Amino acid sequence: MTLTDSPKLQQQPEQPLPDVTATVAAAREASAWWAGLGYAERRRRTLAWKNAIANGAEELAEIISRETGKPVGDATLEIMLTLGHLDWAAKHARKVLKRRGVPAGAVAFNQKATLGYEPYGVVAVIGPWNYPLYTPMGSVGYAIAAGNAVVFKPSELTPDTAVWLAEAWTRANPEQPVLQVVTGGGEVGGALIRAGVDKVGFTGSTATAKKVMAACAEQLTPLVAECGGKDAMIVAADANLDLATDFAVFGGFGNSGQTCVGVERVYVVESVRRQFLDLLVEKARTLAPGTDESASYGRMTHPAGGDVVREHVQDALTRGGTAVLGGVDSVKAPFVEPIVLTDVPEDADAVCVETFGPTLVVNGVADLDEAVEKANATDYGLGASIFTRNHKLGERLAARLKAGAVTIDSVLGFAGVAALPFGGVGGSGFGRVHGPDGLREFSRAKSMTVQRFKAPLDLLRIDRSERDMKIAKSMLHSLHGSRK
Ligand code: NDP
Repeated sequence: MTLTDSPKLQQQPEQPLPDVTATVAAAREASAWWAGLGYAERRRRTLAWKNAIANGAEELAEIISRETGKPVGDATLEIMLTLGHLDWAAKHARKVLKRRGVPAGAVAFNQKATLGYEPYGVVAVIGPWNYPLYTPMGSVGYAIAAGNAVVFKPSELTPDTAVWLAEAWTRANPEQPVLQVVTGGGEVGGALIRAGVDKVGFTGSTATAKKVMAACAEQLTPLVAECGGKDAMIVAADANLDLATDFAVFGGFGNSGQTCVGVERVYVVESVRRQFLDLLVEKARTLAPGTDESASYGRMTHPAGGDVVREHVQDALTRGGTAVLGGVDSVKAPFVEPIVLTDVPEDADAVCVETFGPTLVVNGVADLDEAVEKANATDYGLGASIFTRNHKLGERLAARLKAGAVTIDSVLGFAGVAALPFGGVGGSGFGRVHGPDGLREFSRAKSMTVQRFKAPLDLLRIDRSERDMKIAKSMLHSLHGSRK
């Protein structure tokens, strides 16, 4: 069973579908206005939107907390991280995207060559519920900063967060609906993709990404797909185990384990496994999920979240795994208490399939080579972390990991670094949000050349001279041939 197979909401009375065609038409008009404002004015207005979000942060945090069940403090941190990215995107769009000269090379030295980035026009953003602001804003904020209009289809579990975000846009910039929200289920997402948008920014499960990609294929609409993960933490024998277990607790149980780049698996070198497990269990034992601000984390947001955890844990135990903290009885819907498993077979769902709950599988490995091999063995490739006091060794291991982001001596260290792109490989998706790559993801590169003078070596003509061809041939060898 996966979350994607399970309905997110109880049966709802039939709601009329939003008119996505009219919404996209309004976005099209808004996109022309927005693109025409130029970098400086767009920056000013994007920052005004950022201010509007910051000024209403308390209200927004309450909405996020109500919709997801996470503590208000966690929601506030989510807003803070999001605003850091929005600030960066607004302030760097011109630098990253403006037209600039590039070297024309020896053969085309008579050409002035320039490269510029233009907005796509209308971007559809389809988002998940686990970080209903931070995650979709990786697409929404960067797409807007790059000069696009956005139509955002949030998860059906978190519509109010999205509506609030669009209202904040309107408060700051009432002239045009550069950001609009359409709410509803997957069918609304599908209709939006087919409504003639120019690019799709999708974040969600790998299974849904495949459906989204199939819909995009109908009109060859480009897609950035940010999907699930099964991130591994690798712990070396020389690691600071206090630090590693602090981060294992944060990465494994924070947000009730519902973090795409949270920690789901730990590979710890056998000589320190016992010590690592003892420390981890000691810390995890003190955690308590709940509804108030003293809670370590909140409920499972997806109604089927606890069922997936129970199935993965049951399967792991049946197949020879051991629970060192909690077990199937830790699932007390809608809450799940922390669960730590060890000696779980590598082909069990708890090791290979996204659990998306507060569970950690801690398996021993003989050495770091085995840890890398096992970390790389799932279909996913989103994030990974390494704990070692030897940071040079950590960097060498990081280069061998199949992941879009690797942290050494922390988890999620990149989330607040706006200049770093974010995205996965394999089943975790493709394309990048955040950083310069994130701005370019929502832009089309346009190349331009201006012929400044007629080339002495005139090859771009149908009646090339014998002399020019002779020179070209000799250049071919001198520029590209191997030295004798
Ligand atoms: P889903 O894949 O179930 O849904 C994602 C979005 O797609 C939702 O808005 C959903 O709508 C919509 N959708 C569903 N079916 C279709 C369809 N056929 N066409 C178009 N849109 C559709 O993911 P969840 O919302 O359950 O989010 C959890 C997943 O997201 C986890 O796998 C997690 O790892 C991943 N994730 C990845 C991140 C990353 O950056 N890589 C960050 C955060 C989460 P509706 O909700 O209304 O059904």
